[in-house]
Amino acid sequence: MRIAQRIEKIPPYLFAEIDKKKEAALAKGVDIINLGIGDPDKPTPAHIIAQLNESARNPKTHDYPPYEGTKEFRTAIANWYLRRFGVKLDPATEVISLIGSKEGIAHVFLAFVDPGDITLIPDPAYPVYKTGTLFANGEPYYMPLLEENGYLPDLDKIDENIVKKAKLIFLNYPNNPTGAVADKSYFGEVVDFAKKYELLICHDFAYSELAYDDYKAPSFLEVEGAKDICLEFHSLSKTYNMTGWRIGFAVGGSEAIAALSIIKTNVDSGIFKAIQEAGITALTGPQDHIPQLIDMYTSRRNAVVDGFNELGWNIKPPKATFYVWIPTPENVNSINFANQVLEKTGIIVTPGVGYGQYGEGYVRVALTVDVPRIKEAINRLKQAGISYKNN
Ligand code: PLP
Repeated sequence: MRIAQRIEKIPPYLFAEIDKKKEAALAKGVDIINLGIGDPDKPTPAHIIAQLNESARNPKTHDYPPYEGTKEFRTAIANWYLRRFGVKLDPATEVISLIGSKEGIAHVFLAFVDPGDITLIPDPAYPVYKTGTLFANGEPYYMPLLEENGYLPDLDKIDENIVKKAKLIFLNYPNNPTGAVADKSYFGEVVDFAKKYELLICHDFAYSELAYDDYKAPSFLEVEGAKDICLEFHSLSKTYNMTGWRIGFAVGGSEAIAALSIIKTNVDSGIFKAIQEAGITALTGPQDHIPQLIDMYTSRRNAVVDGFNELGWNIKPPKATFYVWIPTPENVNSINFANQVLEKTGIIVTPGVGYGQYGEGYVRVALTVDVPRIKEAINRLKQAGISYKNN
């Protein structure tokens, strides 16, 4: 047996060591506080579950679904886009369902990247932009997300010879793991850049609705002329606590949607129709759980930010996502810091280097545990003498 080179190119799993330590601590009966998980801890709203129940009982949902999503689901998506962003989409050609946004993000590279083509991807980032590039035998070019630039790639710093060989640029705002946001004028610059170099813009918009302090995340498609050269990837996972259901969608120019659709029709056979009906209920039904969710994450975010700041950090509260990006104390790398924190306190945080080399010097804390547990975590850090200056 000989495994393909594309598998060998996939980097080693960086969280293996911390996973081993976690298992050992659990075996010893340590009360672990896991601030590493990017998975909502609350259930899917009841009316969405009720719709799945009803739809699953209907035999009409039991056959193969349309590859690109049912007409009704795609129409619900187009209507949601119009309501939320004021952007008009043709449900027949500018919308496609995804088996979670991860599926579409991974497949888009096969639709646009030939061997040796460059992709412009952020670093640190959700790892699928890199692995998707490698699976397509493309070459990732890492655009550093630096604090001094508000974690936005500096497009002027990318060598023109690189850009000329690039096929697409991937962005993700609100951003995992940094919690950063981007405004419409930055998106406008990206659109001009993409037009100049004939790039496809891929925008991962999984955290579009998880925004705080009245901030509303803009869509790339709000920028004049962006739609034809852009694909925007959405997820129902975070907004509706539906990570396990595997439902998301992409919207954008019809040519790009058609290219992605060719890959998908040859790889998967769409989403169970009953789940799509539940997805329609999510997008068109009552939305009152969203402000409640935002209030809940806001309290957790404040507890994390205030708690770390009491220990000597100087962190600004992120405007969106359920992550806080926290610098490690001076001269401690992210893996060592995460290991120290786990060993001394039983708390799991994610080392930033797992998201790319420019994530070194940071750890990611997820807001997926309740305020009392966050306070307990801060207390444990205090007791263990862990602080920004002196640990
Ligand atoms: N994009 C980002 C930035 C994410 O953090 C995640 C999940 O954590 C996803 C995409 C994938 O979400 P899903 O496949 O559940 O839609």
